[in-house]
Amino acid sequence: MNKVISIRGAVTAPNTEDGIRSASARLIERIYFKNGIADKDVVNIIVTVTNDLTAFSPARAIRESGHAVPLITAVEPNIAGGIEKCIRVMVTANSDSEPYHIYLNGARALRTDLTDVYAIALDGPSGAGKSTVAKLVSKELKITYLDTGALYRALGLVCLDNGVDVKDGNAVEKCIKDVNVDIVYQNGVQIVTADGVDVSSKIRTPEVSMAASAVSAIPYVRQKLLGLQRGIAEKSSVILDGRDIGTVVLPRAEFKFFLTASAQVRAKRRFDELIAKGQTVVYEDVYNDVVTRDKNDSTRAVAPLKCAFDATEINSDNMTAEQVAAFICSTVNGDVL
Ligand code: C5P
Repeated sequence: MNKVISIRGAVTAPNTEDGIRSASARLIERIYFKNGIADKDVVNIIVTVTNDLTAFSPARAIRESGHAVPLITAVEPNIAGGIEKCIRVMVTANSDSEPYHIYLNGARALRTDLTDVYAIALDGPSGAGKSTVAKLVSKELKITYLDTGALYRALGLVCLDNGVDVKDGNAVEKCIKDVNVDIVYQNGVQIVTADGVDVSSKIRTPEVSMAASAVSAIPYVRQKLLGLQRGIAEKSSVILDGRDIGTVVLPRAEFKFFLTASAQVRAKRRFDELIAKGQTVVYEDVYNDVVTRDKNDSTRAVAPLKCAFDATEINSDNMTAEQVAAFICSTVNGDVL
């Protein structure tokens, strides 16, 4: 490390001890994470605070959250029109990278030039309601929605159409190597294409679900789809739903959620969804598919389904999709710290 960088950050907080503790610790945690630094790299942290935050010292909060670095707090002048209840930091650190500045909660408004693009990772088992929730969130926050399962489904479909055994890694690789899977948005709706052909409706059958689950365990398949997913997340603010978004695809996503529900509830939801689409299905078959896919997804060697260490787990057994979406939106909007 031969460079010293200054990383800026700010967060708003309620004027309570818990509020200041949690906002200060989260801000530093995000700054460290996004910049790939640790205490050992930090020269010092200067903290300033607006004079309406009096319940607790942010520098003390940072120290007591486990950071042994030189810290100083100063109160900012009271500036007309300035953002209220705000904690700002300047972290001086040794690093080889360019600084990645972090503005959270209400402080995002301070530097929209720096914080325009953010990502929400929404992972969880099949049928937990991820896509319904993600659509609601993307509409409410006016951000792009990427249903990553559709990409695996498209490749599963291509294999089925070509009579390829979806469990045979070599055969699958040969079959999909030159297939170009892509996403386009028409009036905000995601269209999945395979070699330019819209396969969006053909990928929603139980057969394709199982094929997607099988091909998604093949490392080549995951690698092929990684760049596409990351590319979409780089361009604009996004919500991605999948199995490994918070752990592999976007480990530095600003917001991470893991949506679960019991297998029975998930099977019932999937069953209702398929019936509503006019498909003829038996509940027991849908339930068995859910259980089999859970097992496939969570026991595979590459990118298994698991909750990222820094994700918020939401059990939706007794929540509607609207309630889950409202929780996510309020977290992103800074109503929840
Ligand atoms: O979410 P959906 O049911 O459409 O996904 C279909 C299958 O694709 C899943 O069962 C899972 O095996 C796989 N998948 C994955 N990683 C993702 C999204 C989906 O492995 N990010």
